[in-house]
Amino acid sequence: MADKQNMALVHPSQEILDNALVKNYDELYQYSIENREAFWAEQAETLRWIKPWDKVLDNSNKPFYKWFTGGEINIVDNAIDRHLTGETRNKLAIIWESEAGQVRSFSYYALNREVSQFANVLKSMGVQKGDIVTIYMPQIPELVFAMLACAKIGAAHSVVYGGFSYEALAARIEDAESRVLITADGGFRRGKPIDLKAIANEAMKRSPTIEVCITVRNNGIDAEMESERDFWYHDLQSLPIASPKCPTEPMDAEDPLFILYTSGTTGKPKGMLHTHGGYAVYTATTHRMMFDIKPGDRYWCAADPGWITGHSYIVYAPLINGATVMMYEGAPNYPYPNRWWQMVEKYGINILYTSPTALRGLMRFGDRWPQRHDLSSLRLLGSVGEPINPEAWRWYHEVIGGGRCPIIDTWWQTETGGAMICPLPITPLKPGSATKPFFGNEIGIVDDEGNEVPAGEEGKLVIKNPWPGMARTIYKDDARYAELYWGDYGDKDYYKAGDSAKVDEDGYLWIIGRMDEVIKVSGYRLGTAEIESALVSHHSVSEAAAIGLPHEIKGNVIHTYVILKEGVTADKPLAQELKEHVASEIGRIAMPEEVSFVEALPKTRSGKIMRRVLRARALGQDEGDLSTLEE
Ligand code: ATP
Ligand code: MG
Repeated sequence: MADKQNMALVHPSQEILDNALVKNYDELYQYSIENREAFWAEQAETLRWIKPWDKVLDNSNKPFYKWFTGGEINIVDNAIDRHLTGETRNKLAIIWESEAGQVRSFSYYALNREVSQFANVLKSMGVQKGDIVTIYMPQIPELVFAMLACAKIGAAHSVVYGGFSYEALAARIEDAESRVLITADGGFRRGKPIDLKAIANEAMKRSPTIEVCITVRNNGIDAEMESERDFWYHDLQSLPIASPKCPTEPMDAEDPLFILYTSGTTGKPKGMLHTHGGYAVYTATTHRMMFDIKPGDRYWCAADPGWITGHSYIVYAPLINGATVMMYEGAPNYPYPNRWWQMVEKYGINILYTSPTALRGLMRFGDRWPQRHDLSSLRLLGSVGEPINPEAWRWYHEVIGGGRCPIIDTWWQTETGGAMICPLPITPLKPGSATKPFFGNEIGIVDDEGNEVPAGEEGKLVIKNPWPGMARTIYKDDARYAELYWGDYGDKDYYKAGDSAKVDEDGYLWIIGRMDEVIKVSGYRLGTAEIESALVSHHSVSEAAAIGLPHEIKGNVIHTYVILKEGVTADKPLAQELKEHVASEIGRIAMPEEVSFVEALPKTRSGKIMRRVLRARALGQDEGDLSTLEE
């Protein structure tokens, strides 16, 4: 355990240092903590406001903090409109490639026309400021147009990831009481058409609030349309009503921008509410600083817009920052495991942002796939979603980044809106650590009373201050929001993240797992991430999950589930070898009682391991809410 934290730092190259936007982390961090409101006001000033704010932070009704109160802004005015007068106007905003290889691209000028036309269509359908429109689509440009069109006219969106079942979709439509649903005939996955409209139809049977459904033609399969309710997107976009001129609605900074559900890794998903003002400021600032965005960059966040990562770092922040955004609808290994690397080369991608689960999935196929491609355009690599195992970190750094590209490991949540703990390109790195707090944030690792635990010890991760990108509430459930995230530490006003972590002597933060998944063995507290990373560091292992199961004497024992690399045979000696390997990496206390070889792990659709499902299965208990479980 200890050696991991004392390992040599990985330093950025001179070139990265010379070109960095932020040159001195400590200095700016200190300033941002001592002058939090001034710091955020300065960042907010880089955006265009329709009316200036009166107050940066209103904390009169904790924990319902408000930011930039009295101010008027529209995030779309910043993501599109203000780019139309300068050089960015003719720059590419979006390059999209389908799984079949079709390419579509849109300049900021073209993006504005598409969004404005659709905004007018929505208005003609009676969509008003304050409505919540549900969007259920594959990763196609129209998904982005739909989100932006809603925001432009002051409606909030609720994007439901295109892989969800009709039950999950219906439940979210009901929660939002949406009148309008935007969907597509379908998408493709591994060359196979997916019939989204049929799923949407099933959901609508259970959704009495829906009056209008707009369908984008994408994969061309037969879609059942109901005459009063259903409209084709392309028909509407060609009507005279769909004029490419549409005013952007001035919004109060605190007006809702969207609701979005958490991944459902630890339980029933929570519908988080985000707003126009603070969210725009927070996402744009984090994106600009952690990815050192340069005017010529081609930036690719390979998540889905249906997750918070996509909302913040495919759609809103990069467009506010005037970047060129890459989008890809399809599987990372289709038709072959070099698909991503081929695209990095083809488009000259400079920044790639993805998840540990995707990396481990691609690592499995070996180095020869990326090595067939010229990846020298890459400058920065990002990671999000789960702790990145040091093994995957090194592969990303060496094989993908050629040892040249800093790994920006960003810790955050649907609730936080944007990255909370992350390095900057200049930060010396430790593989597996998300490093230090972003500006303005004070992170604590605390015990049950909210007191700081000593360096090196495991504790609960809290955020000690409000930040502009924070969710404002759980939609329709203020009480649950206050209780779940803010209730634990009395008048300390700490935000409880629900993760467990530790800080090392250099102030680097290590996420070690979900708070309620910490495994207590004979009085020791072990993190799932630690055990899983130890397993993944073995040359035959591709992915691993660890859980604790009750044991009469030891309190708990560790059970592990392992996916092997291609071509490795599962047998008893290997299971024993893996147990020994964990024991030698962490200590005998961490030695798994069982190693089971599996073909797949239960994961959320955003790719996170659902350890609660493994636990429930092992104990023969009810598996709980499975609405976000991947098939
Ligand atoms: P639910 O809250 O419904 O259980 P979830 O927490 O997985 O689902 P998200 O908001 O998508 O929903 O994920 C946030 C969580 O993902 C964090 O709390 C953390 O556990 C994990 N996470 C995200 N990024 C990182 C990272 N860079 N390092 C470690 N863990 C991360
Ligand atoms: Mg969560």
